[in-house]
Amino acid sequence: MLDAEESRSVAAPADEANRGDMQTIAHWIDGKAFAGAGEGTLPVTNPATGVVTGQLRLATAEDVRAAIASAAAAFPEWRDTSLARRTQILFRFRELLNARKEELAALITAEHGKVLNDALGEVTRGLEVVEFACGIPHLVKGSFTENASTKVDIFNIRQPLGPVAIISPFNFPAMVPMWFFPLAIAAGNTVVLKPSEKDPSASLWLAELWHEAGLPAGVFNVVQGDKVAVDELLDNPGVKAVSFVGSTPIAKYVYQRGTAAGKRVQALGGAKNHMVVLPDADLDLAADAAVNAGFGSAGERCMAISVVVAVGSIGDELVAKIKERALTVKTGDGTRGTDMGPLVTQAHRDKVAAYVAAGESEGATVVLDGRGIEADGAKDGFWLGPTILDNVGTQMSVYTDEIFGPVLSVVRVDSYDDALTMINANPYGNGTAIFTNDGGAARRFHNEVEVGMVGINVPIPVPMAYYSFGGWKNSLFGDTHAHGIEGVHFFTRAKAVTSRWLDPSHGGLELGFPQNK
Ligand code: NAD
Repeated sequence: MLDAEESRSVAAPADEANRGDMQTIAHWIDGKAFAGAGEGTLPVTNPATGVVTGQLRLATAEDVRAAIASAAAAFPEWRDTSLARRTQILFRFRELLNARKEELAALITAEHGKVLNDALGEVTRGLEVVEFACGIPHLVKGSFTENASTKVDIFNIRQPLGPVAIISPFNFPAMVPMWFFPLAIAAGNTVVLKPSEKDPSASLWLAELWHEAGLPAGVFNVVQGDKVAVDELLDNPGVKAVSFVGSTPIAKYVYQRGTAAGKRVQALGGAKNHMVVLPDADLDLAADAAVNAGFGSAGERCMAISVVVAVGSIGDELVAKIKERALTVKTGDGTRGTDMGPLVTQAHRDKVAAYVAAGESEGATVVLDGRGIEADGAKDGFWLGPTILDNVGTQMSVYTDEIFGPVLSVVRVDSYDDALTMINANPYGNGTAIFTNDGGAARRFHNEVEVGMVGINVPIPVPMAYYSFGGWKNSLFGDTHAHGIEGVHFFTRAKAVTSRWLDPSHGGLELGFPQNK
């Protein structure tokens, strides 16, 4: 086993990672780096260079139990810490994060590959949830009813749950954990975060920042790992709730196993987001939006546009405008001022390229082929340029599957009703958008579409922190979305107290059910 100092990988600067210096990446438990007992490791790679920059130590079940024990030990004192003190720490965390967000962005780019300004955008969206959580005294205010019965008052309070687990995906290594932990911590819970094994360093950087902000040891813990770690978090009775984000099959598994163990679970899954363009839309606006939302972050966003639905006769003109813009997208190393970075791993890059080949062989028209792209970056980077497939059919695998890469499929339909029927029949329901100048059509669409987040002339309708984020159908298991008031409710439970003071008379013996007098 490594000792804690040897295993410390926290806040490894991105330039160091880019130089290929190997580091060991482990856990953060009880306010300090923790090496763990496991011998298993996984390589962490810089996707823009193909260089292995770190070895991730996979947690054993015993390591995870150590994290849960730390969170459980810290819980009683943190729960009883005043709201004033908790918010002071949150504000301090917010200030530190804001001052040093470029550092975190660089770390994200070095392990995920997304371009630097996109990484900065991710941090900023996470920061907004921290800012929302700074208002926790207002958010957990209960209600009070005086004289519900004679001299009997009732009040309602919301209390934290205990240790909670967060299991996050590779595509937003900072923002997705920040959808959950600011509110969980602000509400008085303690946290065990299990980040993606592909880009684990952001979580450790955030753990150090909490430490610097004055968060007591044990309130925020990080375990690195795979299914072994996840299963322990799902089964261990010490964990009271699980917030998961990832692909649909794993989300469903986490929801079923976690709820079977008696936990509160919210499990956000995969997506297939459609952007409908009606014939009256501003096609320049729609084409800009399709390129930004289809190829931003190399399509590795759960709110990325994956299918453009061209309604009526505009198909040719729209596809031409999208292609014209896509040709100007600079693909390359995210530290070099490019527009679009590599895919996260070689295996994922090859899987996405295989979907393009499948689409082609199933009859789609390849309008732009990113497979042979010459990227502005190292030759061993995991490159795939913007790709556009036209005349895609709903039976093709490029349509039925979540591709999670820079591939825009264009499906042509005759009418608004055809577009709506197609979207509502799709098993995913994360995000969608409509482009039109017809207010009535837009009103119909947001009313009729079976999707959790809807944009009107906005391609990526990610709600602000004070609204809740979440999809429908196979894009979310559970009934609570992330952050906003739903997030506050997820991380607290209600208690109603009925109280009588100042009235010594108890009315004598009465064995019947109390009646309001
Ligand atoms: P993933 O499902 O492979 O992994 C997510 C998490 O689950 C990781 O921490 C991973 O270690 C863990 N995991 C993986 N396999 C597991 C198994 N067999 N048992 C237990 N745990 C397991 O997802 P990913 O590839 O990291 O992320 C991309 C996916 O996440 C896409 O499908 C994307 O749409 C989805 N996503 C959804 C949202 C949303 O809000 N709905 C947001 C971001 C990403």
